[in-house]
Amino acid sequence: MIVILKKNIKQEDVEKLTAQIQTKGVIVNPVIGTEISVLGLVGDTSKIDPSNIEASEIVERVMKVQEPFKKANRMFHPEDTIVDVNGIKIGGKKIAMIAGPCSVESEEQIIGIANEVKECGANFLRGGAFKPRTSPYAFQGLKYEGLELLKKAREKTGLPIVTEIMSPYDIEVFNDNVDVIQVGARNMQNFDLLKELGKIDKPILLKRGLSATIEEWLMSAEYIMSGGNENIILCERGIRTFETYTRNTLDLSAIPAVKKLSHLPVVVDPSHATGKYWMVEPLAKAAIAIGADGLIIEVHNDPANALCDGPQSIKPSKYKKIFEELKVIANAVGREI
Ligand code: PEP
Ligand code: MN
Repeated sequence: MIVILKKNIKQEDVEKLTAQIQTKGVIVNPVIGTEISVLGLVGDTSKIDPSNIEASEIVERVMKVQEPFKKANRMFHPEDTIVDVNGIKIGGKKIAMIAGPCSVESEEQIIGIANEVKECGANFLRGGAFKPRTSPYAFQGLKYEGLELLKKAREKTGLPIVTEIMSPYDIEVFNDNVDVIQVGARNMQNFDLLKELGKIDKPILLKRGLSATIEEWLMSAEYIMSGGNENIILCERGIRTFETYTRNTLDLSAIPAVKKLSHLPVVVDPSHATGKYWMVEPLAKAAIAIGADGLIIEVHNDPANALCDGPQSIKPSKYKKIFEELKVIANAVGREI
């Protein structure tokens, strides 16, 4: 961190500020010039809030030279993290294929879709039991009954289950019953939830918030990791932009950016990113080509009558076709599906 000082300031004020910063456990190197004077802060600056220093009357501005995330930072962990979910790896050579309906609707529906995506080659089943809906009048999910149905589908197919948690009160139930806990876009900055998830060691699929910057997203990962749970899978699911044609705008450039900044695996959700079933295929292909470690795709047997997100859901037959085509792209970029 570099503190740029104002011109014509008193030496005693610089000394006071230096002493104040040193109490945070960092070394302060002053460089006093005729035009510009700066203080170079060396050491762990993660606990220093730049705005506190900027509040000093002798400070012009503060520049961060290091990212504020540490555990999620590739600088301190150069090799890729591979998250192990009951023996299935996310982040290695093999692409994780997560598929299933937006919401669990009935036993017949979830088991039917689970069988179909498994046959296509998917290695995880997704399905929401607790649904974060914009309207309180919309279907809110089957909740605990939905979790039981997901467990039945896992029993029948062997597919590990990925499902969204909404409240810290449910952590114990999720920890005991699901394989990957999803934190949805709307809860990416539910810090109490993130802190509690840091206390368990279950893999967490952390979706990017609706309008979150890459740094904010990685700081949310940092919340969980700083609590001790380093099994994080990031998920780019589109962000809100001025464009309204698509539900969100898939930020494909976030994938190489996150790969450079962090060692965590990153998967892409082309369904929520676009809101349109016919856009899932091209964006899924682009995601694999650009280096994503997996895809989470909404698949529904009857999209027209789905209780949630039908317009962005593809049918199992389409998933099968995409799956086969994705294998070719994965091979072309040195990966495997
Ligand atoms: C979902 O996966 O069904 C979901 C609600 O996603 P997001 O949090 O990305 O909107
Ligand atoms: Mn959905």
